[in-house]
Amino acid sequence: MLEVTDLAVSYGGLRALAGVSLVVGAGQFVTVVGPNGAGKSTLFKTISGIVPPTAGSVRFEGEDLLAMPASRRAHLGIAHVPEGRQVFKAMTVRENLEMGAYPMAGRHAWVRMLDRIHTLFPILAERAGQFAGTLSGGEQQMLAIGRGLACAPKLLMLDEPSMGLAPAIADLIFDRISQIHREDGLTILLVEQRVAEALELCDRGYVLETGRIVLEGPYEILAGDDRVRRSYLGLD
Ligand code: ATP
Repeated sequence: MLEVTDLAVSYGGLRALAGVSLVVGAGQFVTVVGPNGAGKSTLFKTISGIVPPTAGSVRFEGEDLLAMPASRRAHLGIAHVPEGRQVFKAMTVRENLEMGAYPMAGRHAWVRMLDRIHTLFPILAERAGQFAGTLSGGEQQMLAIGRGLACAPKLLMLDEPSMGLAPAIADLIFDRISQIHREDGLTILLVEQRVAEALELCDRGYVLETGRIVLEGPYEILAGDDRVRRSYLGLD
């Protein structure tokens, strides 16, 4: 479904990504882990069209994403739930969800999707008329995921959804992401710092360090790798 090949990104003189290649098959759950500043958010921003690369290619269902603007990528079915949630704080919960739905055509599909979002996150129905800025961090994350789902995407990219959340809330968010993958069959690309949880959820994972993929493979390979165990899982 998604094929990233030899991607390079620079901010001025700083090289944020170099030779990054990654594949996400339809229906898969793929995780990218790595330390702060490794380039994880940059990778997502390049796929969704916020940051232009200096080299490489990104294809989605065979189409060349780099040749099209971010808005068209959303129409193709790519949803990006950004780091730090970035909900529209001065808009209501319902308005935030409506903003997410703009790439999707059809009233009928929207009503069905809103119903699904409310089933996954009932609090978003209870707080529909409340300003998003008054929600707790966990509720804002639910809203950010709901806004991503609102356009009925094929690929949901989630950038550190557990960031800054208490463990119990983070667990709930991970449960919902897993539910979305299982029940809705959505393809998921997840960036996470909570490596143990993220690896347990995924089919395959990549380790990104200082802009390069240093390891990739299924859960068993990553969880069994000495460096991953020491650096990311806190195990000997
Ligand atoms: P974190 O988990 O801390 O968000 P990350 O793995 O997502 O980190 P990025 O945010 O992609 O990493 O950053 C990769 C590198 O690019 C870092 O060195 C960062 O300082 C730099 N960088 C990111 N955005 C910009 C920007 N807009 N201008 C200049 N440098 C940037």
